[in-house]
Amino acid sequence: MEHKPVRTRFAPSPTGRMHLGSARSALYPFLLARRTGGTFILRIEDTDQKRFVPGAEQELIDGLHWLGITYDEGPDIGGPCGPYRQTERREIYHQHAWELVARGHAFPCFCSPDRLGKVRQEQMRNKQNPRYDGTCRGLDPDLARRRATAGEKYVIRFKMPKEGTVQATDLLRGSIQTENAALDDAVLLKSDGLPTYHLGAMVDDHLMGITHVIRGSEWLPSLPLHAHLIRAFGWEEPAFVHLSVFLKPSGKGKMSKREAAEAIQDGHSIFVSEMQDLGYIPEGVLNWIVLMGWGVPEDEVMTLDDMIARFDVQNLTPSPAAVNFAKLDHFNGTHIRLLSTEDLAARIKPYFIREGLTVDEATLLRVVPLIRERLVTLDDCLPFAAWFFRDSVNPDPAELLIKGLTPAQAADVAGRAQAILAGLPVITPATAEAPLRQLVDDLGLKAGQVFGVLRVAVTGQSVSPPLFESMEIIGREKVLERIARAIAMLGS
Ligand code: GLU
Repeated sequence: MEHKPVRTRFAPSPTGRMHLGSARSALYPFLLARRTGGTFILRIEDTDQKRFVPGAEQELIDGLHWLGITYDEGPDIGGPCGPYRQTERREIYHQHAWELVARGHAFPCFCSPDRLGKVRQEQMRNKQNPRYDGTCRGLDPDLARRRATAGEKYVIRFKMPKEGTVQATDLLRGSIQTENAALDDAVLLKSDGLPTYHLGAMVDDHLMGITHVIRGSEWLPSLPLHAHLIRAFGWEEPAFVHLSVFLKPSGKGKMSKREAAEAIQDGHSIFVSEMQDLGYIPEGVLNWIVLMGWGVPEDEVMTLDDMIARFDVQNLTPSPAAVNFAKLDHFNGTHIRLLSTEDLAARIKPYFIREGLTVDEATLLRVVPLIRERLVTLDDCLPFAAWFFRDSVNPDPAELLIKGLTPAQAADVAGRAQAILAGLPVITPATAEAPLRQLVDDLGLKAGQVFGVLRVAVTGQSVSPPLFESMEIIGREKVLERIARAIAMLGS
């Protein structure tokens, strides 16, 4: 276990929606930082202008905020290593790219995209791996610098050694040896003056003092290049951890846009803001996400504090994780049940308000314990409990005819129950249950029939929280009024 305070970062590109992969890429470095009393940084990698999506940065910030993943330095709060948005650090990358040129590890390249495209096609036709053909590798550095200064369009490429091997280490996978001959002269600085990911991330991780780079497995193939880059600068290497990939719910193949679109049709989503809209709570989402790649038992229920207390980067696993929405539901329901009554009341209240209902706090606090066990997502509060806040309910007359009762029988049951309840000063489980059970016996009916008629009459629906407790909450007056209405319906 790391005990020294680490510095970790989440370095998303603002190129789309925040999904469970981004959330996990933020969560693990956050946990490691908090576990060791270290620092967690948010850095926005917005150097790909073509893929930039306005609003994506804000969605990331909102998502982190909702999940409770707090950062100590970032674009909106600043910090000692800022700016934290890469487009605001242009000059830094420019300097570093030319420093590598000066050290003989990189070279300016003036090849036109057009020519490179042709070379590429030719290579593919010959079944070769497409790569830079080396045209500008041997240019005189001073001459090249002068051409660049004079305004000629250029990129800066890494001068990959032609021979030898490079060794790099991933904390979860161990040592990785790569033949340099298999690696390309990768572009470090683009012709728009902005760095590629390779240069931008390595420079920033160094300047921001990052000790542990925790990132998606799509970057594993670039690790040898990154090792070269860091060594070319003469910097200390951070520890690298590449997370596992996500598989489709079926476990077959990588999670793709298509599965993401399908998920929403059955009330699930991989997007953080949609999960929020669907009534998932951050506690449930975090518990679900944290276990996709962490070697603790799969059904472990943990709060964020538990995760921080137990997190160990050594226990992360490189094995792929299948996205299992049933587990999300399980964890969400479990964490909903762990919330205090006041907390859960505050979280479900907006759903009632959105339905246009007026919610009085005292009633809400009494309703919560009755429905808590049945909620998978927060919006499940509506089918179970919206009726508590309606002035009247509108039962379907057919639903009053429980298990084959005729309208006359159902009206008779309701009338007798009404008489019993009218004779009680207050309706509570203690006062109402015994005489109503007596009524069941007297009529020779099943409890489900009598209570079923009452349930539909009083709540307007055939599924509801426990009947006597529910009647106690809405009160004797409303109960009697609703039963009278049901009797009238059955008579007509
Ligand atoms: N901007 C990169 C991405 O979103 C970051 C990868 C990293 O964490 O270094 O994939």
